[in-house]
Amino acid sequence: MTSTTVSSRPRILTGDTPTGRLHLGHWVGSLENRVKLQDEFDCYFIIANVHAFTTRVEKPAEIRESVLEIAADYLAAGIDPAKSTIFIQSEVPAIAELAFFFAMLVPFPRLMRNPTLKDEIRDKKLGDNYSFGFLLYPIGQIADILAFRPELVPVGEDQLAHLELTREVARRFDQMYCDVNPQTPDEDYVKAGGLFPVIQPKLGRVHRLVGTGGPGESGQLLKMSKSLNNAIFLSDDSDTIRKKVMGMYTDPNRKRATDPGRTENNPLWIFHETFNPDKNWVAEAQEKYRAGAIGDVECKKKLVEVLVALIEPVRLRRALYEKDPGAILAILRAGTARANALAEETLRLAKAAMKQDYLSRRLSFSAGS
Ligand code: ATP
Ligand code: MG
Repeated sequence: MTSTTVSSRPRILTGDTPTGRLHLGHWVGSLENRVKLQDEFDCYFIIANVHAFTTRVEKPAEIRESVLEIAADYLAAGIDPAKSTIFIQSEVPAIAELAFFFAMLVPFPRLMRNPTLKDEIRDKKLGDNYSFGFLLYPIGQIADILAFRPELVPVGEDQLAHLELTREVARRFDQMYCDVNPQTPDEDYVKAGGLFPVIQPKLGRVHRLVGTGGPGESGQLLKMSKSLNNAIFLSDDSDTIRKKVMGMYTDPNRKRATDPGRTENNPLWIFHETFNPDKNWVAEAQEKYRAGAIGDVECKKKLVEVLVALIEPVRLRRALYEKDPGAILAILRAGTARANALAEETLRLAKAAMKQDYLSRRLSFSAGS
C-alpha cells in the first residue's frame, strides 16, 4: 500500500452507486458542491459498487463498466484526483467489517420505518422481491460514511433519512463505547472523546431534481434517477439532449400553444429555473406560458440550448478520459489505497473502543487482473 499522510483539512465523504452514468440531478444535488469544496476539504468519493448489487445482482459486467463510467464522470465534471480521493467500496474491507458492528446498533423496526427505503421499493418497483441485502444497504452506507469520520456529507434530499440513521449510530457508538455523555451537543461528540463525529448533511442547490417523465405511483413527479429512465446524463450528446427535452413531460392539460399552461410542477419550468442563467427570459416566458402566448416547442428549444451549453464541455472532457480506461483505473487504485489507510485506522480505533483489539494487521494490495 502506498504510504499516506492523513490531511489536517476537515473531511467530506460522499459518493454514488454505479448503476449507470451521472445525470443533472447528481450535478445540482451533490456534484457541484463537491467540485467547489475540494480545496477547503479533504474529499473522499466512494463508488458504491457493493450497493449496486442490491438492485442488479445479475448484472456484474454492467456494474463493473459503470464503476469506470462514474469515475470518468467525476473527472470530467472537475473532480481533481490530485486533491480528492476517488475509491471503490468493495476494495476497502474495513467498511464491510464496520457495517456488521453498526448493524447491532440499529433496531430492525427503526430501519423499516426509513422513508427512503419505502420510496425506493415503490419507485423502482421492487415489490416484495427485494433481497435481505437491499435492507442492509443503509447500514452499509453508515459504514461507508463513518469509516472516514467526515464532517460533511454532500447529498441529495433522498439521502437525508439515511444520514439521520448515520447520526444516530455515531451517537450510540460514542455513548456506549467512548463514554460520551448523552447530553453532549452533536457538534461536540469528538471533542468529548467520541470516535465518530455526528455528521452533517450538506444539500445542494436543488435538493431533489425531478426527471423528464411524468408523476409516479405516488402522484408526485419522480426524482431524476439513473434507474428510472428519466435522466439527462452529463455524457449525453446534443442530439440525445434534444430528443429527451422535446419529448419531456410538461402540462398534460395543454393541447396547443394558445391554452393557458401550468408552470408549477412542470419539469420544463423546473429545468429552466434550475439551469437557465437568463432569469429575465425565464420570468417573461413563464408569464406568456401561463397566458397561452408561447408554445411548449419554443420553450423546449430554448432549454435544449441551455443544457447543451452546460453539458457539452463536460462531455468533451469525458470523451478524452474514455479513451484511456487504464488511466482511470490507475486513479481508482491510488485513491482506494489512500481510502484504505484511513478506513483501517478507523476500524482499529473502533475495535479498540469495543475492546476487540487482539491483533494488528496491515493490508497489502497488488494491481489485480
Ligand atoms: P439509483 O437510481 O441507482 O438509485 P440515483 O440516480 O438515485 O441512482 P444515487 O447513486 O442513488 O443516484 O445517488 C447519488 C447521489 O446523488 C446521492 O447523494 C443522491 O441524493 C444524489 N441524487 C441522485 N439523484 C438526485 C436528484 N434527482 N436530485 C438531487 N440529488 C440527487
Ligand atoms: Mg438512488
